[in-house]
Amino acid sequence: MTESEKKKIIEEGEPAQKAEEEKGEPTIDKKYHLLESGKAKEIIEKAMNLAREEIPKGAVATYIPELGKEDPHQLGICLYPLKGEKICLGDYDARFTMQSVSKVIMLIVALEVCGLKNVFRKVGMEPSGEAFDSLVELDVSNSKPYNPLINSGALAVCGLLLPEVSFQDMLRYTRNICSDPGIELNEAVFDSEMKTCSRNRSIAYLLESKGIITTDVEDTLRFYTKMCSMNVTAESLASLAKKLANDGVCNLDGKRYMSSRTARIAKTLMLTCGMYDGSGAFAIKVGIPTKSGVGGGLLSVSDKRAGIGVYGPALDAQGNSIAGCKLLREISNELRLNLFYDPEWDKEEGDDENVMKSIKESSVM
Ligand code: GLN
Repeated sequence: MTESEKKKIIEEGEPAQKAEEEKGEPTIDKKYHLLESGKAKEIIEKAMNLAREEIPKGAVATYIPELGKEDPHQLGICLYPLKGEKICLGDYDARFTMQSVSKVIMLIVALEVCGLKNVFRKVGMEPSGEAFDSLVELDVSNSKPYNPLINSGALAVCGLLLPEVSFQDMLRYTRNICSDPGIELNEAVFDSEMKTCSRNRSIAYLLESKGIITTDVEDTLRFYTKMCSMNVTAESLASLAKKLANDGVCNLDGKRYMSSRTARIAKTLMLTCGMYDGSGAFAIKVGIPTKSGVGGGLLSVSDKRAGIGVYGPALDAQGNSIAGCKLLREISNELRLNLFYDPEWDKEEGDDENVMKSIKESSVM
């Protein structure tokens, strides 16, 4: 398909869908997905109220002292559909640091600049089942980090990026892909993390001892920590997620930000590894590829439909936004955004919890 054909489709919709619309038949999207139903805003508002109830069960991250100063009660969302109105609610424009959400950007740029083979020579593509800052499996298994979305994997990716791009290049790319020229380095968070990052420093030196990082370790660590300290909003994350949802292309001006393959790899790893040791449960309960950060951000890609950015700094035990996860779960259910959604589900009785319980009782599992 040529670029202009692609652009035409982005602007006018897929031909098959157009034909269905002309016949007056509701499209698959209109039948099952409620994004364009006009009810989305109301549904999200309700979900926000339910999600707020989770906040007292979580806590802001304190291992980076500067993050400990955040007000845990904040909650914001921006849902940016490929077709239809952008919905922004709560603290959608509050600035917070990207933290591990930036691992998606590091991965995208590494795949584009260094190439797929070089990236996966340094990191794997499997979930680790361990905490985001774990180094145990890295030491014991004596091989490369499990995936690029945990600290060890992202540090390995930074070792690849460092000779190729500067932090200023990364900042410029981030501003563009997030359609947010206001993104800056949060110096206070950066300084705070640099003073307390013994664990990441240990991981980085361990990676050097294994020959995975060959760049200067301290420079690599600084580059990684700067990437984590970029100040974004839920709205900027939604813009980034929307481009991922649209195969790496901005639906408004047709500009491509990454290859189709890079977009696919990023989304797949977000689904399998984006929520650390909570990735499997999140995939089952929510079914939307998502990447979290300890700043409270969630980058969520409803493929071919919408980009979603969430901010809620109170975290659960895995370091994922506690209210943000609840919010995405509600929205996924109510707007039928689960990647595997099937209309048959609506006929099922009971919520997931009850279904899981009855499966266990009937000893199928
Ligand atoms: N900068 C944080 C760290 O390296 C990012 C971790 C996270 O967001 N889970 O610990």
